[in-house]
Amino acid sequence: MRIDKDKCAGCGQCTEFCTLGRIAVCRRDPRTGKLYYEINEDECVDCGVCLRAGVCSAGALYMPAYAWPRTVRSAFSDPTVEHRDTKVAGRGTEEIKTNEITGRIKRGFVGISCEMGRPSVGARFYDIEKVAMALARLGVEFEPNNPCTRLMADPQTGRYKAEVLNEKVLSAIIEMIIPLAQLPAVLTAIRGAAAGVDCVFCVDLITVLEPGNAIPTLPLLQSLQWPVSPNGKMNTGLGRPLAKEG
Ligand code: SF4
Ligand code: SF4
Repeated sequence: MRIDKDKCAGCGQCTEFCTLGRIAVCRRDPRTGKLYYEINEDECVDCGVCLRAGVCSAGALYMPAYAWPRTVRSAFSDPTVEHRDTKVAGRGTEEIKTNEITGRIKRGFVGISCEMGRPSVGARFYDIEKVAMALARLGVEFEPNNPCTRLMADPQTGRYKAEVLNEKVLSAIIEMIIPLAQLPAVLTAIRGAAAGVDCVFCVDLITVLEPGNAIPTLPLLQSLQWPVSPNGKMNTGLGRPLAKEG
């Protein structure tokens, strides 16, 4: 996102809507003394929120026609923008939201989502890569229909395409399904990688409940003293029944 300095009235109103906080700086034109704002384009994730807020009566805000690899910023950060580069919409898949229809995650398995970056912080792909590579060393298979996976140069190692590493997005999701027995090793790898990244992320563990509604991952998480926020998604019967387990 950019601000046309000649049109900008220096009111600062658009900066209140920035998802990353105040990344625009106020400047004074040395020739005219006129105030204007300038967006730090390296920090901006091209989410478009400031523009869509519609507060700039001067019409000074505009989204340049960015080229690859800059285009990944808006694709991951602005839900109105198409994923032209990865051909997969959104930040990740629908994971548990449609599991009663897809049956992707079965008993005895855990869906893992590492939601890298959050509003006000964001995430760079070099940090996303650190977590992905730590997981790849355990031999996990990343979800192929995930926009993050599509940006990897090598899904076997979790290495991303070199040109996207410095790109910053509001949030991107690393996804995989693992056997429940592999969860301790995966959690250890995630915790180890977390110490080396300069962003925030949360880890979602997605499972089908056991008979009696027990959450199969809960005892392990509690024993490891991971902070847990259990959430349920109820099948109201509108989808197909969970696929039969082989
Ligand atoms: S709202 Fe418009 S005029 Fe005001 S600082 Fe932002 S770009 Fe400039
Ligand atoms: S596009 Fe998003 S990140 Fe960039 S300045 Fe606007 S609100 Fe902030």
